[in-house]
Formats: sequence, structure tokens, C-alpha cells
Amino acid sequence: MLFEIEVPTSGRFQIVDITGEVQRLVYRSKVKHGIAVVFTRHTTTGLFINESESGLLEDIKAKMKELVPRGAGYSHDRIDSNAHSHIRASLFLNPEVIVPIDGAELQLGTWQRILFVELDGPRHRKVLVMVCPCPEFPEE
Ligand code: ZN
Repeated sequence: MLFEIEVPTSGRFQIVDITGEVQRLVYRSKVKHGIAVVFTRHTTTGLFINESESGLLEDIKAKMKELVPRGAGYSHDRIDSNAHSHIRASLFLNPEVIVPIDGAELQLGTWQRILFVELDGPRHRKVLVMVCPCPEFPEE
């Protein structure tokens, strides 16, 4: 079952915890055992799974900025001045995360959250969530 999450972002570089919305879609799908594929369709956004602790998220953003600074003579900047955003997405993030589902619950670890990263905001972003039942566990 395919869903879409709307993620309006308010900052140029922003990390948004979308775990709650993904879990709500899993409940709505009625899938008890399977996988959730979360996929962003934008080249200057990305996803990762980690702890949603504000200090850690600031550390991650600072490290990405340090390693891939803005406007460092990139070729793509002649087109739309956001090469750093594409490069950060490519080097540090993925367009997708996949989370197992059991008992209709995302099987995330205690501190794991699904984190969407806006790298060239603010914009109105869309994230796809495909909730797939696993054939080894037929739905009751
Ligand atoms: Zn671009």
C-alpha cells in the first residue's frame, strides 16, 4: 500500500523526525508483518535512522557543513548554487530507509528514529511510504 507524507520545511538545512507519521501509515495499512519502505523523491533531501537528540542533530549538521561547505567552487553551482546540498545528500544520506514491521509496529530500536533531512529548503517536500506485507506471514 503506497502513501505519501507531506513534509513542509521551514529552514535551509533541517532535520525532521517523521517516525510518528510512518507508524500511523503502518496502522492504516493493516499490515501486521512486513516492511515499510520510506523514499524521498528529491535530490537535495535524504533519510537516515538515528537518535533524534537535538545536540546530536546539531553535531551531524555541523559535521556535514564542515566536510562539504557551501560554495566551494563546485561545477553544479553555475546552474542553481546548491551543489553542496546534492553532495551532502549523496555522500551522507540515502533516498530510502527500510524498516521491518512486526505486530503492526515498526521494529526500530529504543533510540532509533526515521529522520528526513532537508538540505536546500525551505520547500514543500513529499516522501513516499510503501507498506508491504511479507508473504511468509499471511495476514489474518
Ligand atoms: Zn541543483
